[in-house]
Amino acid sequence: MLGDRIKQGRTAAGLSLRDLAQLVGLSAMAISKFEREQLKPSSETLLRLAKAMNVRVEYFFRQPAIELSEVEFRKHSKLSTKDEEKALADVREQLERWLELEAVIPVSWPKAFLPPGDLVGELATYEDVEVQADRVRATWQLGTGPIRNLMDKMEEEGIKVILTPHDGEKKFDGLVAKANDHTVVVVGKDWPGDRQRFTLAHELGHLVLHGRLAASLDEERACNRFAGAFLAPKSEVLRLLGESRSWLEPQELYLLKRDWGLSMNGWIYRAQDLGVLNRAAARRHWDFFAQQGEGRTWRELEPGEPYPKETPRRFEQLVYRALAEDLIGESKAAELMGMQLSKLRARRRMDAVDAPGCH
Ligand SMILES: [Zn+2]
Repeated sequence: MLGDRIKQGRTAAGLSLRDLAQLVGLSAMAISKFEREQLKPSSETLLRLAKAMNVRVEYFFRQPAIELSEVEFRKHSKLSTKDEEKALADVREQLERWLELEAVIPVSWPKAFLPPGDLVGELATYEDVEVQADRVRATWQLGTGPIRNLMDKMEEEGIKVILTPHDGEKKFDGLVAKANDHTVVVVGKDWPGDRQRFTLAHELGHLVLHGRLAASLDEERACNRFAGAFLAPKSEVLRLLGESRSWLEPQELYLLKRDWGLSMNGWIYRAQDLGVLNRAAARRHWDFFAQQGEGRTWRELEPGEPYPKETPRRFEQLVYRALAEDLIGESKAAELMGMQLSKLRARRRMDAVDAPGCH
């Protein structure tokens, strides 16, 4: 078991045998032997291994509890097997910490995700998908306005959101999986916020559309439609853009993006899907976007400030709550958040208060 954990920790940290060997001053062969349990690391070596992997020593002795099943990478994912392994190892490791935390503190949200009960049974058209998105919004009491923190909202509804830095140079496109009884959605940690949000909403689409789509509908396309409709509902799009337009100003799209966390390209799709732009008008926008920008066109890299990344707050907030209620000690809290004890103490004193959300 110790060997498996060393390997899992190494993979989750994105280190090769050689990388890790270099960091701890041993040979790759020695590390390989630890992993195959042909050699037992000394406690001093374990400390160094833990430091290199950015985990606490306790990590090596924790029983792995996560079984990931029904893993569905988005179909066009071009992740290599190696990158996929790294991403999954990281997801498992983060989930273990979540489950450990939930075991000590009673959470106020459901532990399993259940799709809203009044969803449409069979969806025959992409317009029906819009209705489905509106229903989820209504059940989640989101109104029709912009969704401020989609990650926190999804977690409140029983979906675990995991951020991973292992996206194989941005080739990874998000995934939804079952882990024990939990529903897990994974997105890239370093993506701009609008991409994170669209992917989260797309994966939510899989959760509420799967098995309900008529055979004539393509699930990926339906999930994209769902994501757009969920982030910017039809009624609001028509109110903000008007019923019929021939041209949308880039600055107009940019302001909408800032407000709604849906990309400028996403807004053009919305306008096209809802008939605000006809086919020819939408084409003019795509052509224009494909001609703008230096190096990368506006289709690939939109102008202006990127939309800020989302930062999930629930996990850390729960750790501090557990600390406050003496349900866990400081070293357990540091372990759960994957940070040094000294850093945790500084945070508790409210000095060195840096950006939250980096567990
Ligand atoms: Zn998909």
